[in-house]
Amino acid sequence: MHLKRWLAAALLTAGLVAGAGGPAAADPPAHTPGGPCIEPTQQQRLSSVPSYAEVVRQMRSIEDSSRGAVEVASAGTSGEGRQLMYATVGDGPDVFWLQARIHGNELHSTEAALQILRQLGSSGSAEAQRIREALTVVVIPMYNPDGATANIRQSTTPTRTDLNRDWENFVQPESRAFYALWERLQPRLALDLHHFGQSSRVAGTDQLNQFQIGARSIDPSRMTDEQWLTNRQMAMTSVAAVERIGNVGVARYPLIDITNAVLSRMLLGGPGPDGSDPGFQTQGAIFYEVRSVGQKSNGELEQMFLRPSMAVLEGAADGSLYGHPGTGWDALPFGEGVACGGGPGF
Ligand SMILES: [Zn+2]
Repeated sequence: MHLKRWLAAALLTAGLVAGAGGPAAADPPAHTPGGPCIEPTQQQRLSSVPSYAEVVRQMRSIEDSSRGAVEVASAGTSGEGRQLMYATVGDGPDVFWLQARIHGNELHSTEAALQILRQLGSSGSAEAQRIREALTVVVIPMYNPDGATANIRQSTTPTRTDLNRDWENFVQPESRAFYALWERLQPRLALDLHHFGQSSRVAGTDQLNQFQIGARSIDPSRMTDEQWLTNRQMAMTSVAAVERIGNVGVARYPLIDITNAVLSRMLLGGPGPDGSDPGFQTQGAIFYEVRSVGQKSNGELEQMFLRPSMAVLEGAADGSLYGHPGTGWDALPFGEGVACGGGPGF
């Protein structure tokens, strides 16, 4: 074992011993974050998730059975020539952007996005109808199909570009294609689904941290007051929905300031690949980080994306999201005891 990992794991174990006597575990596996580090290869159970071809097939199938509610299209082609598929559902005035798998090896966000699309496209429930009437939802289940197929984070081009650091230089065709789609559709809200690879506890507890909320990909000083409020409204609506699952262990994502990430440029309003000003900024753009691996089943991991996403969609559709006070963000704990490699998910 790598010395640094061993040391971190040992420190984590020590922390757990010191924390003994805490609340009884309702779900014992969720309270053993000091377990062995997950090596990168173990995070990559590609056989358990749909391939690019299967994702496209499912999108077409959802479109076919939606009686016109869902439309599937391509935003362009990837570095290897794959179609960059997206779907739109609903025809409301507010555009809502939901993207998954910009990092190819963050597996379960794709299935969650497909489930949301299926639900919005075919459900006769009052909530789904309200969302379809109030919103036009853009669903991108696999932003990085080349990286997903190769099971790596970045592009597969020689530059190995992180597509979530490419909305300033736009070296990748995926970035240029999805920027053009963003500029054309002008989404009011955006949600970006990620996995984090580290083992983490909720600070001050012995609870395994399995969901991290990212209300800020850039420093709030770079946002308008309205954007920062909207981001916190989206974040706290999401947290409430995740907490209703029970025993998830919610933490704040580390405070970052990454201006070339997709969400960041959406908030900043360009400039685009040709240097032009889009004359438009997205009002709210946040991200989720779900633990990659562990004792949770695939279905449980997907619920941690699906539940908060649906809560934000419902709040955006009925307007309650914008009435949320946005409070509580500063009181959320961070994750701590990062024991293993894996790097930041976002
Ligand atoms: Zn990621």
